Amino acid sequence: MTYMFIGLFTLMIGYFVYFEAVLSEDVINNPYNSRQDAFAEKIVRGSILAEDGTVLAETKVAEDGTETRVYPYGEKFAHVVGYSTRGKTGIENLANFTLLTSDISTIEQIQNDIHERKDQGNNVVTTLNTELQEAAYAALGNSRGAAVVLDASTGAVLTMVSKPDFDPGTINEDWDSLTAEDDTDSALYNRAAQGLYPPGSTFKIITLLEYMRENPDYEDFSFRCSGSVTEGNYKIRCYDGTAHGQENLTTAFAKSCNSAFATIGLSLDETAFADTCKSLLFNSELPFDLTYSRSSFSLKDGATPAEQMMTAIGQGETLVSPLHMAMIAQSIANDGVLMEPYVLDHVENYSGSIVDTYSPKSYGALMTPEEAETLTEYMKAVVTDGTGRKLNDLGFSIAGKTGTAEYSSDKSKSHAWFVGFSDTGESDIVVCVLVEEKGSGSDYAVPVARQIFAAWYAQQNSLW
Ligand SMILES: [Zn+2]
Repeated sequence: MTYMFIGLFTLMIGYFVYFEAVLSEDVINNPYNSRQDAFAEKIVRGSILAEDGTVLAETKVAEDGTETRVYPYGEKFAHVVGYSTRGKTGIENLANFTLLTSDISTIEQIQNDIHERKDQGNNVVTTLNTELQEAAYAALGNSRGAAVVLDASTGAVLTMVSKPDFDPGTINEDWDSLTAEDDTDSALYNRAAQGLYPPGSTFKIITLLEYMRENPDYEDFSFRCSGSVTEGNYKIRCYDGTAHGQENLTTAFAKSCNSAFATIGLSLDETAFADTCKSLLFNSELPFDLTYSRSSFSLKDGATPAEQMMTAIGQGETLVSPLHMAMIAQSIANDGVLMEPYVLDHVENYSGSIVDTYSPKSYGALMTPEEAETLTEYMKAVVTDGTGRKLNDLGFSIAGKTGTAEYSSDKSKSHAWFVGFSDTGESDIVVCVLVEEKGSGSDYAVPVARQIFAAWYAQQNSLW
């Protein structure tokens, strides 16, 4: 009998230790587990703060104990901050365990117990920059689309905007209308990380990289553009049918010449091209903690000339998210090294004592430092002499690439892209903008990016 009790007791202790160490976070975090409510009965959910301490989400407790989750910025941070009263999304989901954990002193805990008060949960301080998020939100206006801003050296997500949007504070009231649309049409869909689009000419960054890798004499490239190129019975046209004339690789890239890049596409080794795309995380998981969609690239050995040409100019079967394009640009800005994009900076208890700090993490090199440097020079020419000229008067150096992505046989409809980064050597940022169903990247995405860059450097100058 005694041995049996000792045995059972040991098993029980063992389970408790195992639960605390291994299972508890999973159990609390599982959005379908009612035990979450048990934690919420003892702890007031902590706040989500911007990097400067501005409140993005907090729980207000009324005199009668009624709790309301409040989002002071409403729609502006909706997708990245998420919501917590109708399932959990965004940072509300990612940091759920932390927000329902309370690192307060034992004395405070005892006092709270005596007065039958709940303990105050920990706050998470994010990497999000309020002013920049507001600038990007305003710049997108009423367009559908997304904007992502990363710190070029750490990968910290400074801004993540998606439109259409919703108010996380009224998610329960609005639920039926928000879910009436298909998933990808819904305002709940985070287009910045989940939206998949043909990359259009932003993909020429990758075609250029592959061409450089296969052709050590790439600087000798020369091409005469007559406005279109035909292979077999398939014809690729330059934007608006413009004949770009005599070009070298820099001008072909800066002017985003489809004829030149479709011709380059015909010369590339499909298998090597697919390997390069795989190493840039196409068809792969991304190192990112919020919900996202995987990008796809599907050029195979034996592809038809039409497929080769289309793929090289970012049409064809390729699909990519704005976040992923931003990550590729971040690696170019950072000597080839991708930093994992992250949204949580540190955790504080309610009185501001730091409980935990997250550090930037390197994912590894996506390309050599020399390749990154060369791509940067080509991307700078886009801004000084090409389709990104509207960024050239900001007073600091910017490298980028525009894209005008056709997504239906109706040629009048296209998604506008810009991806690029400031190249000043200090506080540099990566900006990716996608505007749905508008037109050319230089007309519709570049002006949005311009407002974001301008807002960032206005903010930096006011800090200096
Ligand atoms: Zn051309």
